[in-house]
Amino acid sequence: MSNNFPTPDRVLVIVAHPDDPEFGAAGTSALWASQGAEVTYVIVTDGSKGSAEKEMTREKLVALREEEQRKAADAVGVSQLVFLGLPDGEIENNDVLRELLVRQIRTFKPDVLVTHDPTSRIVGGRYLNHRDHRTVGDASLDATFPLARDRLNYPQHELEGLDPHKVLDVFLIFSDQPNYTVDISSTIDLKIKALSAHKSQIANLEELPERIRQRGRDAAEHVSFEYGETFRRVQLNR
Ligand SMILES: [Zn+2]
Repeated sequence: MSNNFPTPDRVLVIVAHPDDPEFGAAGTSALWASQGAEVTYVIVTDGSKGSAEKEMTREKLVALREEEQRKAADAVGVSQLVFLGLPDGEIENNDVLRELLVRQIRTFKPDVLVTHDPTSRIVGGRYLNHRDHRTVGDASLDATFPLARDRLNYPQHELEGLDPHKVLDVFLIFSDQPNYTVDISSTIDLKIKALSAHKSQIANLEELPERIRQRGRDAAEHVSFEYGETFRRVQLNR
């Protein structure tokens, strides 16, 4: 585990739901953005199932969660925010999704791709990883390799001016096999601010700051800094 990672030029965060970028990687996104990286978020689903409120409708929830996600992305200095709008809880790793994700990779040309760890079924012995998380992680990794890299996949992209692209590094969130910790001591407050934007998703908002700080301290337990964010990192350029 270490943290002398050079700032990437471009970072693409592909996640299942509004609020996944914040829980998984807001501190790291804020850090890289503050160092000049262009950070793009792609939210695959519309988040339309994430409410237990009796009065809530899918339409209201989708609009509310988009608004929350915009505020959260602004808090950490994200450059672009893309909503693919697929139905929450119903996505499959199929050709439609893979083509959409290859298109994002070829459009935003990231050095670093951040997505879900598709192999994490149970995380930390404490929670069951959402099927959408595993599906988005799986499809994003398929899109990264080999689909986005090799020009004969989705040849229509080339005709539209989208060239093949090779991702150098993958950071997987919500992993039960983390192998890398980023020092987010300088951006923990921005992570808290970003998470606080997701009011519809967070019970006990007043307890959120301490909860996030404790998680950050736990993540940095075996390293020398105060607050960390952990990832399963896969270096593809070796
Ligand atoms: Zn999620």
